Amino acid sequence: MYNVKSKKAEEFINHEEILATLKYADEHKNDSALIDEILKKAELKKGLDHREASVLLACEDKEVTDRLYKLASEIKEEIYGNRIVMFAPLYLSNYCVNGCVYCPYHQGNKCIARRKLTQAEIEKEVIALQDMGHKRLALEAGEDPVNNPIEYILESIDTIYKIKHKNGAIRRVNVNIAATTVENYKKLKDAGIGTYILFQETYHKESYERLHPTGPKHNYAYHTEAMDRAMEGGIDDVGLGVLFGLELYRYELAGLLMHAEHLEATFGVGPHTISVPRIKKAAGVDTTQFDNGIDDETFAKICALIRVCVPYTGMIISTRESKEVREKVLKLGVSQISGASKTSVGGYADENVHEEEDSSQFDISDNRTLDEVVNWLIKSGYIPSFCTACYREGRTGDRFMSLAKTGQIQNCCHPNALMTLKEYLCDYASSDTIKVGNEMILRELEKIPNEKARKIAKENVEKIAMGERDFRF
Ligand code: SAM
Repeated sequence: MYNVKSKKAEEFINHEEILATLKYADEHKNDSALIDEILKKAELKKGLDHREASVLLACEDKEVTDRLYKLASEIKEEIYGNRIVMFAPLYLSNYCVNGCVYCPYHQGNKCIARRKLTQAEIEKEVIALQDMGHKRLALEAGEDPVNNPIEYILESIDTIYKIKHKNGAIRRVNVNIAATTVENYKKLKDAGIGTYILFQETYHKESYERLHPTGPKHNYAYHTEAMDRAMEGGIDDVGLGVLFGLELYRYELAGLLMHAEHLEATFGVGPHTISVPRIKKAAGVDTTQFDNGIDDETFAKICALIRVCVPYTGMIISTRESKEVREKVLKLGVSQISGASKTSVGGYADENVHEEEDSSQFDISDNRTLDEVVNWLIKSGYIPSFCTACYREGRTGDRFMSLAKTGQIQNCCHPNALMTLKEYLCDYASSDTIKVGNEMILRELEKIPNEKARKIAKENVEKIAMGERDFRF
């Protein structure tokens, strides 16, 4: 039976409730009075539930989609302004004991070279990432208790935070590793991680079990209840995601929103981020067997719906997506993007490791350098932000949410974005990026509403130009 507050996966992600939701959506997809009512509720910018979202997703009326896109852009603008947070993934190890059929790390895959970074190799990777200008990483690893135990992940986090090369620093390490115990989540929290990210892959239990035939990840309940354990372990910023293409997207959106509703109802705080990966070609994986792929238009509609349904949850898009798709969804709600990513273990520092080579996880569609991405964002009117202040100031979980909900976060995020962009321009940017970036900073500093904050931000930007670093509100 469906119970949003239950601790049991099959009760808070309830199959019958999803089927009833999809049926309701089909029955009401042309009910213009109801759709108008849902859109009016959405215009209050306080979110929608999985049923309301499913009706909008099922509705094929172009006018409704246009209204949804307009609203998603407005919410994006109001809550996140024109800032886009930058990050890069760091692949530590592709050893894995699971059998996930869509993932090239699956245990039986003989097509990829297995590799695990030593601490010395991690240092090289991190220096390469710092030399690009990155400040925020997402750690990635396969699940392997022998090769990648929690101690290895913890040691790696410690190594990463300690590396100070020139003006570089990794100031926030997010972690995307397999579902684990409350005790291990406590250890990750103590190691100072930012967000704990775990993609559900699919919310459809039967498909989940078929797609994860072997290994610990086969256990649907253990995987689905991971965020509850992470929160119990003290991690209050958690990141959800669905791997679109595995199951029917309408089922997945309903499940994803039910998961967010569950966290909010149980812990008083919803997910910090939602990622929207789509399945990609990969070595040793027959992606043609996944026939639930979604086209760019449907993908855009899903992004817009997530923005409207959970306005205060950041939305992440990776380099799995092309420049064109990224351009479109940035307008509709995406607030965080990766740049210059390598999905191979050791891919940043080791010139002999190429993306075409076998250790990479999946194909990348956006191959631009970080400077090219930053330059493109600035010219498109977005402020690339390397800010990591909220988490370092303890503004996580419900403290972040309550600030965001009262609009206060704007007074911190906007100047922080400008100050960290200034650091990037001083230390890493090309001459054209320096030019357009400095013009943007001058323009945007004037938009800081609070006079005192504006004055401090201007002074700090000057100090950064003179060599000082790491200011934050
Ligand atoms: N091993 C961890 C786990 O079990 O969740 C997470 C690390 S894995 C490197 C990160 C994510 O990559 C997975 O959760 C999956 O969604 C995604 N992924 C796997 N195969 C993919 C593919 N062929 N195309 C796109 N994304 C893929």
